Amino acid sequence: MTAIADQYNLIILGTGLAGYTLARDFRKHDTTRSLALVTRDDGAWYSKPMLSNALAKDKTASELATRTADEMAASLDASVITGCNITDINTDKKYLIIHERKVYFDTLVLCHGASQITLPIDGDGTADVLSVNSLDDYALFRDRLDGVGHVAIMGPGLIGCEFANDLANVGIQVSVIGPDSAPLERLLPPEASAALKTALSSLGVSWHLETVVDHITRTNTGYRLTLADGHTLEAGQVLSAAGLRPNIALAQSAGLKTGRGILVDRHLCTSHPDVYALGDCIELGGRLLPYVLPIMHGSKALAQTLSGSPTPVVLPAMPVAIKTPAHSIVVASPPPDAQGDWTTTSDDHGVRALYESADGLLLGFVLTGQHVKEKMKLERTMPAVLS
Ligand SMILES: Cc1cc2nc3c(=O)[nH]c(=O)nc-3n(C[C@H](O)[C@H](O)[C@H](O)COP(=O)(O)OP(=O)(O)OC[C@H]3O[C@@H](n4cnc5c(N)ncnc54)[C@H](O)[C@@H]3O)c2cc1C
Repeated sequence: MTAIADQYNLIILGTGLAGYTLARDFRKHDTTRSLALVTRDDGAWYSKPMLSNALAKDKTASELATRTADEMAASLDASVITGCNITDINTDKKYLIIHERKVYFDTLVLCHGASQITLPIDGDGTADVLSVNSLDDYALFRDRLDGVGHVAIMGPGLIGCEFANDLANVGIQVSVIGPDSAPLERLLPPEASAALKTALSSLGVSWHLETVVDHITRTNTGYRLTLADGHTLEAGQVLSAAGLRPNIALAQSAGLKTGRGILVDRHLCTSHPDVYALGDCIELGGRLLPYVLPIMHGSKALAQTLSGSPTPVVLPAMPVAIKTPAHSIVVASPPPDAQGDWTTTSDDHGVRALYESADGLLLGFVLTGQHVKEKMKLERTMPAVLS
């Protein structure tokens, strides 16, 4: 087991993309101050976006874990403390409880992510519903798919559609259930949703939209799902992809200000001057940014701030590529307060939708099919998310 010191200059909570990226960036500026990362998992390094296309690539969880915690610790000249669920942070005296000991910090960075939303569903099968938001989740999911021919996915959003495509690619029948009237309805204009739906349907994906799951009961062969519209479905496994919510309870109990996420300013500083936060757990300027690129940009700025050069985060336009190879999609969502209109064109090559202000400024876009080739050209003309 890693030796744990009584005090570190910098402690990072979490060894996901945010925690490890920040540790790497910090070490580029500072090779002398003591650094510890703490996680409740095994601290292996992996790429989370690969979890929703790993079945078709035939990757096991251990193949996705490319470095162990010990290897990460050696490369970062840091302590990586694993298997430790942090429940207690004292921000006045600046310590947290690690394996029942007080460990003091000069600076703490919270990178402890988000958790799957649990849907209120009745029935004895509810406890067996899986969701995939970590390597361990993926290992369990892959294990439970053994011999399963049909998976029901709750949630027709980004993660639900990616898993639907991945499962269909390995020959598993998929039913997607959700309250929306179309897949990815909250991100895409109707033409693009329809194109995705058609492409996934052609792989055998079936849809139960504008309804929700009421009951899940165990059967001899798997599960029976009873939907609010009265239909029933039989499935060998049920996957929930109902969305993620930032982990804020720990920050709240430590007296930090929270909204939908842990509230941070442009320097990623929380309401305590020595506690920062990065990644899926934060809310910045009224927005949650649960994607890779905001973490990469935020990490670079925060590493400089923590090394003595206060640097505000700058976020350029950051389109997200959705991993549905049946129909490629790139989305650059307009800011929530944007004033503008969509212009959408569809042809045999896919859908091209531009969101422009009254004076013709491009504020967002959705490209599907072969139109995704235009991504870089459009991205360059968009204003920054945070300049
Ligand atoms: C299936 C899937 C596919 C995705 N695909 C894409 C994509 O294609 N493109 C894209 O941009 N984004 C994608 N995302 C989002 C992206 O992966 C996340 O934004 C990013 O990985 C979040 O990193 P994080 O470090 O903030 O959180 P996490 O990776 O969740 O890390 C949190 C860490 O904190 C630890 N932790 C949590 N609570 C505690 C505690 N109390 N005590 C100790 N340790 C704790 C955890 O063990 C973990 O080490 C995807 C997400 C998912 C789930």
